[in-house]
Amino acid sequence: METNMLIGPSFEAGQEAEETILNPRTGDTILMLPEASPAQIDRAVAAAAAAYADWSRTTPAHRSTLLLKIADRIEAEAEAFAKLEALNCGKPVNAVRNDEIPAIVDCYRFFAGAVRCMPGTAAGEYMAGHTSMIRRDPIGVVASIAPWNYPLMMMAWKLAPALAAGNTVVFKPSEQTPLTALKLAHILADVLPEGVVNVITGRGESVGNALINHPAVKMVSITGDVATGKKILQAAARTVKRTHLELGGKAPVIVFDDADLEAVVNGIRAFGYYNAGQDCTAACRIYAGAKIYDRLVADLSSAVSSIRYALADDAENEIGPLISQRQRERVSSFVQRAAELRHVEITTGGSAHDDAGFYYRPTVVAGALQADEIVRREVFGPVVSVTRFTDDDDVVGWANDSDYGLASSVWTRDVARAMACASRLEYGCTWINTHFMLVNEMPHGGLKQSGYGKDMSLYALEDYTAVRHVMLAH
Ligand code: NAD
Repeated sequence: METNMLIGPSFEAGQEAEETILNPRTGDTILMLPEASPAQIDRAVAAAAAAYADWSRTTPAHRSTLLLKIADRIEAEAEAFAKLEALNCGKPVNAVRNDEIPAIVDCYRFFAGAVRCMPGTAAGEYMAGHTSMIRRDPIGVVASIAPWNYPLMMMAWKLAPALAAGNTVVFKPSEQTPLTALKLAHILADVLPEGVVNVITGRGESVGNALINHPAVKMVSITGDVATGKKILQAAARTVKRTHLELGGKAPVIVFDDADLEAVVNGIRAFGYYNAGQDCTAACRIYAGAKIYDRLVADLSSAVSSIRYALADDAENEIGPLISQRQRERVSSFVQRAAELRHVEITTGGSAHDDAGFYYRPTVVAGALQADEIVRREVFGPVVSVTRFTDDDDVVGWANDSDYGLASSVWTRDVARAMACASRLEYGCTWINTHFMLVNEMPHGGLKQSGYGKDMSLYALEDYTAVRHVMLAH
């Protein structure tokens, strides 16, 4: 197992406090991993800054070739990456192998192609006697900071557009899930010139904090909690760094009375509980029309009680445990507080699983009201709330009445109603009669306190480049 950080040309162990890396399926320690020292952080940023001069002047075609090589190498080692990610995150290995790795490989391939055909305003004489042109240039050293729920995928979403655009990167994985990043570092060191990507490990408050305040870092890209995003903004204000924020979510799922109920139930069973609900787009906040509410709650509860997890044969598992004991306690306390409300009924789940590891039973919280904490706050666990509605205007208002603005979905057989509803939702994405589906060609990102960075798509290339105007007098 790779445990060394990548700083410039060399692989080296961290020199500061050790972090315990756990297997969430058992609670056992996988290994102890020391974090980067302040001097190591400085050297990583210096290596990225030194590499920038040459890397930023390579052609898109050259960078594209190297991104394609990275994709090929990940694909060639897909099985090893899948097993390592499953070990460190507790995910069923099939989910990583079949869902995540192909999307990760495709992300590098998408940006390898996209950077060769960046669109923009045509050059021309917008003032008589002068020719104007638009350039999209890289920004400099990007500090990229990732969360623990999809470690290798978040790394792809951050590295691929940043590198394609000609930036250099210091990447910090979550202190809980660094193992696949440390493995990928060896491929990156083989394929890319020295210093173009550096990978350092450690906690947010120490290593992350040093990175976001580093004067040579020109942009901070983070996926994480809203509270963390606010700290990034405060740090960025000191030197006016560019920021790319992908923060939490609390996705509303509006189910009208005319929806295909079987599709709704199958959809929520899949997309509300995928990755044990540790997903910023999880279909977790259901609003059900009054006429179908009772059937939806009954059918959903029965479907959710059949989700397979914590089985010895991992091939049978649909979801894994939560990432840590702390996260399980957090999820459990949300459900406990909801259960104390007289109008709420926990129709399935509602407690931790007894086996070893950080499992929590897939849970449905029925009868929740708009003002309830379970409807308003991000739980980040296998917990879905269901709220009854009677009025279309009310439900759009409730759906929008949230600090979050990442993802949403509308379920109805009436296309006009779906489009009218989608047009009024204040979310970065609205799915109609599905949820959770992502493609590398389309942007993923939020509104409101979910942040404003766009991952994937040409919009990510925009985020990782600066627009410049060059004007020539004839
Ligand atoms: P987190 O904010 O605790 O940590 C995310 C990363 O930020 C980690 O690498 C952490 O070490 C680092 N960090 C923490 N404090 C920092 C600081 N002061 N300075 C610099 N870096 C710091 O989030 P998490 O618990 O790892 O992940 C879960 C959160 O991520 C959830 O809120 C979830 O919704 C969000 N998320 C959002 C998206 C999205 O696309 N919008 C995707 C996945 C996860």
